[in-house]
Amino acid sequence: TDFTELGLSQKTLDAVARLGYEAPTPVQEQAIPLVLEGRDLIAAAKTGTGKTAAFSLPALDGLEHAKGGQGPLMLVVTPTRELAQQIGEVCSSIAVSTHHRIATVVGGLSYEPQISKLKRGVDVLIATPGRLVDLMEQGAVRLGDVEVLVLDEADRMLDMGFLPSMRKIIGATPDTRQTLLFSATIDRSIMNSVGKLLHDPALVEI
Ligand code: AMP
Repeated sequence: TDFTELGLSQKTLDAVARLGYEAPTPVQEQAIPLVLEGRDLIAAAKTGTGKTAAFSLPALDGLEHAKGGQGPLMLVVTPTRELAQQIGEVCSSIAVSTHHRIATVVGGLSYEPQISKLKRGVDVLIATPGRLVDLMEQGAVRLGDVEVLVLDEADRMLDMGFLPSMRKIIGATPDTRQTLLFSATIDRSIMNSVGKLLHDPALVEI
C-alpha cells in the first residue's frame, strides 16, 4: 500500500514527504482510513510502530482551525515529557502544511510560557496528564472544544497511576468527540477503565 491510497489530502501527503516516510507502516495502513472516517479507535501498537503518525496525519488532515479564544480542537494525552515532545515534533512538521497551531504542556517546566501560549489560542494540544489537570484547575485551559482526543500509551498512563487524571480530562471533553486510544496491550483493565468511554470503537491489532 502507498500513502496515496489511504484517503489523505494532498497537503497531508506533502507533510508525509517532508517527514521522509516512503510507505505506511501496518498500523498507519489500518488506522488512517478509520480515523478519516471519524471512527473511534482502539489500537494495540507499541512505540516504534509508527503510531504517532498513524493518529497525527489523519486527525490533522480534517481538523478545523480554532477561532478567537477557541481551542484546543485536538488533544493528545501521553504519559511522559519525552513522548509529548516527540509527538509535538511530528505534529509541528505536519502543521507546516496544515497551518495548525501546536502547543505542548508537560510537567517539570515553568507554567508561564505554557499558559501564555494557551492564551494566544491553539488548535492542537499535546500534554502529560498531571500538568494538564493542573492547568485545567487553574482555568488556563478548557477542553470544551475538543473534537479529537488521543490517549497515547494508555496502559503506561494506568501503570503510572494517572487513571483519576485521565477520567477528569476525558470528562471535560464533549461526549461528541472522536476518541483514539493507543496502548501496547489491550487488556481488561484498559477496556474497563477507559475503553468503555469510546463509541463503537474499531479495533486495530498489528
Ligand atoms: P512511533 O511509533 O510513532 O514512535 O514512531 C517510531 C519511528 O518510526 C519514528 O522515528 C518515526 O519517524 C518513524 N516512522 C513512522 N512512520 C514511518 C514510516 N511510514 N516510514 C518510515 N519511518 C516511519
